[in-house]
Order: sequence, then structure tokens, then C-alpha cells
Amino acid sequence: MIDSIKKEDCTGCKVCGDTCPAGAVSFPVDSEGFWYPAVDYSKCHKCGLCIKTCPSLNKLQTVKDDPRVYAAWSLDMTRRRESTSGGLYSELAKGILRINGYIAGCVFTDDYKEAKHIIGNTEQDLEKIMRSKYFQSDTAGIYRNVKELVEKKETVLFCGSPCQNAALSKFLGTDSDNVIQCDFICHGINSPKAYRRHIEELERRFKSTVQSVHFKNKRRGWRSLGIYIKFKNGKYYFANRNNSPWTNGYIVGNLFMRPSCYRCKYKNIPRVSDISIADFWGFKKRRQDMFYGISLVMVNSRKGAVLYNDIQSRIYSEPSTLEQAISGNWNILNSTPCDERRNEFFRRIDTEDFSKIVWDLTGLSRPRRLKNDIRFKLKMLLGRDS
Ligand SMILES: Cc1cc2nc3c(=O)[nH]c(=O)nc-3n(C[C@H](O)[C@H](O)[C@H](O)COP(=O)(O)OP(=O)(O)OC[C@H]3O[C@@H](n4cnc5c(N)ncnc54)[C@H](O)[C@@H]3O)c2cc1C
Repeated sequence: MIDSIKKEDCTGCKVCGDTCPAGAVSFPVDSEGFWYPAVDYSKCHKCGLCIKTCPSLNKLQTVKDDPRVYAAWSLDMTRRRESTSGGLYSELAKGILRINGYIAGCVFTDDYKEAKHIIGNTEQDLEKIMRSKYFQSDTAGIYRNVKELVEKKETVLFCGSPCQNAALSKFLGTDSDNVIQCDFICHGINSPKAYRRHIEELERRFKSTVQSVHFKNKRRGWRSLGIYIKFKNGKYYFANRNNSPWTNGYIVGNLFMRPSCYRCKYKNIPRVSDISIADFWGFKKRRQDMFYGISLVMVNSRKGAVLYNDIQSRIYSEPSTLEQAISGNWNILNSTPCDERRNEFFRRIDTEDFSKIVWDLTGLSRPRRLKNDIRFKLKMLLGRDS
């Protein structure tokens, strides 16, 4: 059954758990903090559905169109500033909420130590779902919940990684008009345990528990890739791309991603979803736009086009090309390579501080980080922040 899947194949999408009619699949976590399916053979009917639905063992044959590509952002300045890229997701979601539909996406748990998928239909739900959480979201039950709503003829906008979207398509079986799927260009999904270790180290340092976490916070601009964390004692932490161990461990070191991400089956064109969103790194605009963020939007189907047309009065949208999108975003077509230092990261994670391991393994000593930071800030000042 599905427990025979190789670790490097399993994306952790958990669709096998939703599929199993006997409730025989559970998801214990390994030493790296990733969950993998386990089967309780006293319950298992051996129907094989878990294997048939797996989007890794049976690649989804996508029928989406070649994308129409746009550079875009929300005209709502607060929304744009608060979002990860140009705030396109929020505008798509609001388009669905306006027709009384539902949005399914990723939220932090109340203690900000984990992430999970939920479904909601209010602005408050959108506030929690928006923004990237750069580690793996727990999707247990979400595919069933989406299906239940679709069967009641409700409209649902599902947003998740490409593998989670492939999982949903497999689970639904047919391309229903009521489900609009949205994925993002994905660098790879990180270990929830690595994230927790990072947060716990900061909690020790600030002698308080976390009140909120905001990845890619824009107080120093979109390109600063800042992480902003508030603590319950009123203190806060902000680190940009040069001094955040999280950002460097993820982007520079590729140290704590899920094994399947290094050989992702869903980094390609055509996409698996109706709309794909991302950062439009290759798109040069005014300085102000580089500060507040530019979204890359790929409209991949008729359904996607209907929703995108619907939100035109609320966004700035400029046609672009796939070539331009690909030139600024390597991960549209390619998996991030696995770094040999990854094993050492996980060997040390239980006994050493998160930041120490990252700085050791990336070789980014304090003077080097300082030098990089000064260089980056000068570039920003001179408007050459590419
Ligand atoms: C793990 C991860 C890796 C990414 N890698 C890249 C990349 O290499 N290049 C690039 O251009 N863009 C990448 N993105 C996408 C980018 O960070 C933005 O999410 C995207 O551009 C949309 O921004 P936005 O402002 O329109 O919406 P946002 O408000 O940022 O909306 C984010 C949407 O993503 C969903 N989401 C957030 N966290 C998760 C998660 N952990 N799992 C599943 N769904 C989640 C939310 O439900 C929400 O619907 C990545 C996102 C994630 C979560």
C-alpha cells in the first residue's frame, strides 16, 4: 500500500489519508520533521485507492492551456504591502468571496508553530490565509472538505503548492466548474521542524512567546526578503535577506526542504492549476513597484481567465511573456538542487541552535553578512536592487 512509497517520492500532500475509505492511513513524522504515510493493516481493505490517488506515483496528466502571462498587483495599497508579492492572491480570493464562495488555503496555527489548510468564506479567513508560510502545511481533510462543498454546488478557490493541487485534482477526479485551483511557483517546501527550531530559538532569545510571524515582510521592501516576528512581551525581531538564518538556510543553502522537492514532478508548463501566482522577479518597473511587490500571474485555463477578468478593476495588470517569467524564476521549470550539507543540518538540528547550524553550513560569517548587507543597502539606495 501507500506506505511502500519511497521517501524521495512522497510529497506529504496527505491525499492518501483523505482517500482511504477505512481510515487506515496515518502520518507519523520522521526525524527531519516531515510526515509520511503509515498504514494500519488491521483496518486496511487493500483496495489500493491510496496508491491510485497518489499524485507522485501517478503523475497528473494536465490538460491546462499554455499560460497567458501578466505582471500585476493589487490597487489596494495596504493589501499589496501586507501580501507576499503583489497581493494577487487576495484579489482572487475577494473575487470568490463576493460571489459567496469559499477559499481554501494555508494558515498558521494559533501559536504560530505550525501551518495547516482551512476553508473559510469571510474576510477574516482571508486575513489568515493570505501571505506565504514557507514550510509545509498540513492538508489532512482538506480534499474531502473541498469535495463536500463542490457536491453542494458551492464555488471554492483552492490555493496550495503544485503537488497539493495535483493531489486535489486526483481526489476530485473531474474538473468541476465550481473549483478554481491556484498554485504558486515553488522553490520547495521546508521542514516544519526546522521552522519550529528557528522560532523556539528566537523565543529563548527574546524571553517571550511568538505573537505573529510575517515572512517576506516589506518594511525594508519586497526584495529585502525580510522576516518580521512579534513577541507577546512587545518586542519584535526583523531580519532581512542578509541576516536572516531562515532565508539563507532556505534560499542560499537549500538546507531543510522536503526530499521530494529536489525532484519535483510538477515544476513544468502546462501548470496543474487554473491560475499560478509568484513573484515577478524579472519584471523591472518603477522603484516604488520593486518596493511593494510585483506578482507574476499565469492564467492557465478558461476558468482561470474568467476569475482573472472579474478582478480587473481592482488590479494593475500588464501582459508579459513566458520567456520573461522564466528568466526571473528558475523554479518554474526546475527543481532546486539538493545540497550535500542538508544531511549535516538534520544531524545537528536536535542539539544545536538553528542559526548556528545555518551560519556554519552556509559559511556566512558575521563579517561576510555585514559586507553583503552594506552592499545590498547601497544597491537599494542607488536603485540597483536586483
Ligand atoms: C513554500 C513556498 C515556496 C514558494 N516559492 C516561490 C518561488 O520560488 N518563486 C516565486 O516566485 N514564488 C514562490 N512562492 C510564492 C510566493 O511566495 C507568493 O505566495 C506568491 O507570489 C503569491 O503572492 P501574493 O502576494 O499574490 O499572495 P499571498 O497573500 O502571499 O498568498 C499566499 C497564498 O499561498 C498559500 N500558501 C501560503 N503558505 C503556504 C504553504 N506553506 N503551503 C501551501 N500554500 C500556502 C496561501 O494559502 C495563500 O493562498 C512560494 C510560496 C510558498 C508558500
